[in-house]
Amino acid sequence: MARAAQPLATAQAPAFFRYRVGDLQATAINDGVYVRPSEGLVPNAPPGGLQQALADRFLPTDKVTISFTTLVVNTGSKLVLLDTGNGDLAAPTSGTWLANFRAAGFDPANVDAVVISHFHGDHINGLRMKDGTARFPRAEIMVPAVEWAFWTDDAKMAQAPAGLKGTFDNTRRVFGPVANDVTRYEWGKEILPGITAVDAHGHTPGHTAFAITSGTGRLLAMSDTTNDPNIFARNPEWSAVFDQDGPEAIKARRRMLDLAVAERMQVSFYHAPFPATGFIAREGNGYALVPVTWRPEV
Ligand SMILES: [Zn+2]
Repeated sequence: MARAAQPLATAQAPAFFRYRVGDLQATAINDGVYVRPSEGLVPNAPPGGLQQALADRFLPTDKVTISFTTLVVNTGSKLVLLDTGNGDLAAPTSGTWLANFRAAGFDPANVDAVVISHFHGDHINGLRMKDGTARFPRAEIMVPAVEWAFWTDDAKMAQAPAGLKGTFDNTRRVFGPVANDVTRYEWGKEILPGITAVDAHGHTPGHTAFAITSGTGRLLAMSDTTNDPNIFARNPEWSAVFDQDGPEAIKARRRMLDLAVAERMQVSFYHAPFPATGFIAREGNGYALVPVTWRPEV
């Protein structure tokens, strides 16, 4: 008798994951991955250190898979999106955000507010497609005031090293057409019901994390306080090549991870493996992300 002719599948189910934060509902929406060589990712790691860290996590040692996960927060009165994914401007292994967002039952036209953590392209390009179309026609766009001041400064742009030019240019591409309507928010303030902006600068000058609270429910949305926590929570003194100010990024990383440990807060990361949420435990001189346990009910 012949074997069944069922072909091997080539894709996972749509990548969204819902969880509660008190009375709020969070939904992690994945935007795919970017695979890059491990070489050059952590300039200040000891020789062979990154390869060992990857092997310790049962990961390939020659390449690193960086995932992208945005967070939708339904506050009950507003549908809020934290960061937007790569839009149609990145590697073909990413850009799955819209399909996953729709699969979760959402429509971009229903987003009330888009809150941006910082201005790297993988966080803002989903606001505006390559052809100039805005993806969230109704949404209030909210950005960190410090981040805005830095990347919109023409004098800073003129003096910027080559590696930063792209972000200055892309800031103008994404926000230029709506510059007068963008809301600039301050750290330490509740910027939307239950969502407080937290200073986590270092990765970029205005890089922001978010404390999301409702009743006894709390979530610390870490943004890029670490890149993949399997590497950088475990080794908090390592600076990813994307960290603009390494020493300040390390301070922010320690501060945020210590807070998560002390308060036993649930956390989310933009670049953790999907669904990019869990808890933080101390491990060695660093920390480990303990993923949440999947449950069928939300
Ligand atoms: Zn990022």
